Amino acid sequence: MVLDNLKQGLRATLKKLVGASSIDENIIKELARDVQRSLLQADVNVRLVLELTNRLQERALKEQPPPGLSRKDHIVKILYEELSRLLGGGDEVGLALRKDKSNIVLMVGIEGSGKTSATAKLAKWLLKHGYSVGVIGTDTYRPAALEQLRTLCRRINVEVYGDEKSKDPVQIALKGMEYFTGARKKDVILIDTAGRHKEEKGLLEEMRLMYNAVRPDLVLLVIDGTIGQQAYAQADAFHKNVPVGGIIVTKLDGSAKGGGALSATAATGARIMFISTGERIDDLEQFSPTRFVGRLLGMGDIKALLEMAKQLEQEADEVKIRRIMSGKMTIEDFYYQIEQVGKMGSLRALFEHIPGVAGMVRDEDVDVMEEKMNRWRYMIQSMSKEERANPDIINASRIRRIARGSGTSERDVKEMLTQYKRSKDMMKAMKGRQMMGFLKRLGFGKE
Ligand code: GDP
Ligand code: MG
Repeated sequence: MVLDNLKQGLRATLKKLVGASSIDENIIKELARDVQRSLLQADVNVRLVLELTNRLQERALKEQPPPGLSRKDHIVKILYEELSRLLGGGDEVGLALRKDKSNIVLMVGIEGSGKTSATAKLAKWLLKHGYSVGVIGTDTYRPAALEQLRTLCRRINVEVYGDEKSKDPVQIALKGMEYFTGARKKDVILIDTAGRHKEEKGLLEEMRLMYNAVRPDLVLLVIDGTIGQQAYAQADAFHKNVPVGGIIVTKLDGSAKGGGALSATAATGARIMFISTGERIDDLEQFSPTRFVGRLLGMGDIKALLEMAKQLEQEADEVKIRRIMSGKMTIEDFYYQIEQVGKMGSLRALFEHIPGVAGMVRDEDVDVMEEKMNRWRYMIQSMSKEERANPDIINASRIRRIARGSGTSERDVKEMLTQYKRSKDMMKAMKGRQMMGFLKRLGFGKE
């Protein structure tokens, strides 16, 4: 499998974490050290490694897991997020192909990086995704280059345009583009190029000439994954000469340095669009940092974990309800209830949802109540944190201040406090699952 060493290292680390009896600072530091070691062994740049592990450590120590999510799961989630970020973050990005024209894709990269193979693999991938494809071979340096491309493409029934006699790559490309018009028009035209120059400058110069003549819709840079973090300099150099729209990292099968190549490439800000993981024509896959890390960590179910985390965050609301139900309602909880009612639209709408009540409440009453609720909102906003948490401390002078702050009268404030107490007592009396379900149906506890 891809990046076997890194995978094994990270999985062993995870196992240690999951097996730990409790999570403390030492465990977190050890985790950071283990991750560090694994990444460095995969040739990830030292600075990137340190950045990652510092963040990992800090977040693991400081961030509170959402209520209900275990500390361990939370740390796994952080590790997952930080590793994804190292690889560019997010899901895969598409090729952004246009429907109304032939999309010209220029394949660039140094000799031996896997361009020709990647061109054929990408052609197959595009076919599989419903696009018609034409390929142009412009490597005029290696005599066998065109034959290699033709052989690969014959197997997938993709037509190749080339010219053995020409020594002018740009002319071949332009003629090829002409060739794939009319009846031979294709959705995508892939242009394979030469990467003959060991000496970089000559190659980059040639790329620029080709780029200016062809004006491709997309430049894909092919990088050999076995070069590890040197990929940074290479990607950077190419990008400075032609706008690289995406990167294909090859030979990730059996490369101990793949992690370095992927992270270094991502660090240039360019998107890794595909990775190649073998010599077969199907060994090309779209690259998604999050999915890749999920696989690396051996967590097919990392998605399930993340979903659970999200759900738990939402359930925090239900914890609130449970507190309200148990009679420990704070003013904040009270406010929360008012807010929830506000979110539902109007009181009128609320009453219409309560069986037996609909039709019994007069419109004028509803208006009065809505006004009152608005006033309460202002009052609560005028309270200090302490006052909200512990309404018993609200004495006469505090009542005066709250009334002034909210533009209401002292009588209003007193009334609200009485209402709050009554509401609290009522909740206490009505605790039980039935009431919970009822509240939920009314929209409490949902976002
Ligand atoms: P080019 O010079 O950039 O066109 O590179 P080629 O496409 O000719 O590939 C150079 C060599 O690398 C060939 O022997 C390919 O079979 C091999 N190769 C390309 N991609 C991969 C890959 O993902 N995995 C492995 N193991 N070999 C690859
Ligand atoms: Mg080639």
